[in-house]
Amino acid sequence: MKRRKTRQVKIGSLSIGSKSPVVIQTMTNTPTADQSRTFHQVVELIESGAEAVRLTVNSEAAAVATGKIIGQLRRAGYPQPIIGDFHYNGHVLLSRFPECAQQLDKYRINPGNVGHGSGHQEHFAQIISIAKKWNKPVRIGINGGSLDQDLLAKLIQANSRRKKPLADKEVFYKCAIASALDSAALAQKYGLAANKIIISIKMSNVQDLLAVNAQLAKKCDYPLHLGLTEAGSDIEGIIASTSALAILLQQGIGDTIRISLTPQPGMPRTREVEVCKVLLQSLGMRSYSPTVISCPGCGRTSSDDYQDLAAQIKQHIKNHLKQWKERYIGIEGLKIAVMGCVVNGPGESRHADIGISLAGEKNGKIGAVYQQGHYLVTLKGASIKKDFFKLLESFIRKNYSAR
Ligand code: SF4
Repeated sequence: MKRRKTRQVKIGSLSIGSKSPVVIQTMTNTPTADQSRTFHQVVELIESGAEAVRLTVNSEAAAVATGKIIGQLRRAGYPQPIIGDFHYNGHVLLSRFPECAQQLDKYRINPGNVGHGSGHQEHFAQIISIAKKWNKPVRIGINGGSLDQDLLAKLIQANSRRKKPLADKEVFYKCAIASALDSAALAQKYGLAANKIIISIKMSNVQDLLAVNAQLAKKCDYPLHLGLTEAGSDIEGIIASTSALAILLQQGIGDTIRISLTPQPGMPRTREVEVCKVLLQSLGMRSYSPTVISCPGCGRTSSDDYQDLAAQIKQHIKNHLKQWKERYIGIEGLKIAVMGCVVNGPGESRHADIGISLAGEKNGKIGAVYQQGHYLVTLKGASIKKDFFKLLESFIRKNYSAR
């Protein structure tokens, strides 16, 4: 798919926009002032695949801890960009805590939460001048729930004077877009280079997010950060987020993504990152891990064998991925098929790099194995799973070059 043309913005050593791959971001949910917990969560998020991590910087204690956490990360060998999330008092914290301002790789500000009246421009100018001083990019992040109220009031008034007033939603989108683009123009007027600006407009409703980002993408060439905000938890949040982001990404819109999930009790924070990875890999935009192609099963499958095998292969991949990546070039692109019977089994197995098609209800434990489009062997009996794992390992050794 053709990506929208944008400028390229450097965040630390990471590039966002232009032809760079779509970047996965996430955000911690520990109190930043708690240096130890936040450091460990950032490490966990990075280890799971986050390429940039945002921290809340909401107090003096958080600003002090931010500098320390970043220092600790760099000493531990993690170069990934760390972004500071500022609302209401960003101008104060960035001025008073230069170590925090200097160590952060990007500042995220929401023009709706920078101040009102004359304070708005003053605080905004102060943040931009600090970004310039330390050569940092800024994300101008608009949220549907915290639009610039002064601007919204002006647009509502102007709309009411039109002969044919726009629908309320259109005024709402217009306000979000104007707030983002006016703020970007103001930042440039204050001397921030255009290639230091990223924009996001987040909404909590899929249709609003699609409409507003499609309009925004036509009006500027800043890289766009995508995310459905307040998406909810579990399956609803995952499906709402991925459906919205997939549509935009498929249209070439979006340079960095975050999936915001309300954590369920016991759910790791890394879930957000895992969902981003699956989304980008499903769209063929990034490659993180071998793919397991498995059928849903139906009345032709009398046992759970193929389900067990598919689950065991997924676990095997999880257990070995780190080691495989260190050892074999391109292992992320491996495709393994596990199919329940001969209806679609041989076809899907032939399309995969290696696949097994179990025989189905009537024929007992039999599985035909295909490799690179050709029939290889039929496995039989109780050792089918063990034998297939051996074939899989041997296929990897023979077909992926060592690093
Ligand atoms: S491959 Fe066979 S078992 Fe799997 S869903 Fe299709 S018909 Fe059913």
